[in-house]
Amino acid sequence: MNTLLMIIVAILVARFGVELVADILNLRCISEKLPSEFDAWYDRRQYEKSQRYLRETTRFGILTDGVQSTASLVFILAGGFAWLDHLVRAAEQGDLVTGLLFMGSLFAASQLLSLPFSIYSTFVLEARYGFNRTTPRTFILDIVKGLLLTALLGGPLLALMLWFFEKTGAMAWLWCWGSVTTIQIILLFLAPYVIMPLFNKFTPLEAGALRDAVEGYATEQAFAMKGVYTMDGSRRSAKSNAFFTGFGNSRRIVLFDTLVQKHPDPELLAIVAHEMGHYKRHHIIKAILRGIATTGATFFLLSLCIKSPTLFAAFRMEHLSIHASFVFFGFLYTPVSMALGIVGAIISRRHEYEADAFAVETAGDSTSLIAGLKRLTVENLGNLSPHPFKVWLDYSHPPVMDRIKAIRKLG
Ligand SMILES: [Zn+2]
Repeated sequence: MNTLLMIIVAILVARFGVELVADILNLRCISEKLPSEFDAWYDRRQYEKSQRYLRETTRFGILTDGVQSTASLVFILAGGFAWLDHLVRAAEQGDLVTGLLFMGSLFAASQLLSLPFSIYSTFVLEARYGFNRTTPRTFILDIVKGLLLTALLGGPLLALMLWFFEKTGAMAWLWCWGSVTTIQIILLFLAPYVIMPLFNKFTPLEAGALRDAVEGYATEQAFAMKGVYTMDGSRRSAKSNAFFTGFGNSRRIVLFDTLVQKHPDPELLAIVAHEMGHYKRHHIIKAILRGIATTGATFFLLSLCIKSPTLFAAFRMEHLSIHASFVFFGFLYTPVSMALGIVGAIISRRHEYEADAFAVETAGDSTSLIAGLKRLTVENLGNLSPHPFKVWLDYSHPPVMDRIKAIRKLG
């Protein structure tokens, strides 16, 4: 076997292996003993249920990843890329359309492969634990809307990238970086108005004590925003969450309807204060800048792989092309993307602590924040004792027990 191909196969297997080890360690870490902190929150049955949920979702995740990784490996080793390239070239539609057909077919195949897993996860697994609220109609509509968005936004963007690399030579990665960043920034502004309403309904929070409290707090913090909204998260799941979207004066706080139903007002205010902390401590802008820098570095690395004869020989390709370079680069990029993911998670966890601290400092109510976190964990059947390696690898939020400890230290 070609050496480079062996390296690529090793990369894919290693990626799967690392995740598998983290999951196994995490399952072994399940503790029968309920931490005393959660005594009044988790009853015996609910706590056991949360552990069953963790076991089932983890095992199903391993199965999903295993099947998908195996499918990729079989496709690679069977010379699938050369075969597909031959097929799309037979249409004789020029480089650009050929490239779009090549990438589009791979995308369609991966979507089809993940569909049964998504159906099982939504309608069997999540339903078994009382989380699923998605109707088959919503499920299908989500897929159709997602595909339309991908075709309308992703298609032209991909065509533009292929065109840049075809026509602008050594400067192509800079052109790609500039245009992708511009589009991303436009989307950041447009998403709350154009894209998110396609999937959910946003309603201004009804007048009352909660809205007064949130608006009062925002004024006190000199925080300009468009308002507080609730989102019909219950359309898909019983799980709850909260987040911020938009920029400048058009910023809005969004609370899932499920969150508003389950939490008392002081906890909701503490959660809002935490979200606001992400803005006040500049986490959002830092994440955006990090994203822009990563995009640039990625396009630069991609430019080094364009039409590389060694890479194309590894996949037994007859013709060199931009479109296949994109895909092959993706395999080589796997370790970089994993490393970036780990660094991103480390930063994100640090930011969570900072946002918690901000909430306690400004709203002056650590009791409500802790109660809010506990309720959120119990309602979502969260894991109280994740393995440190799993946390390090892909937890965007610190384990809830660590957060509570850190909040208590603030006094
Ligand atoms: Zn947060």
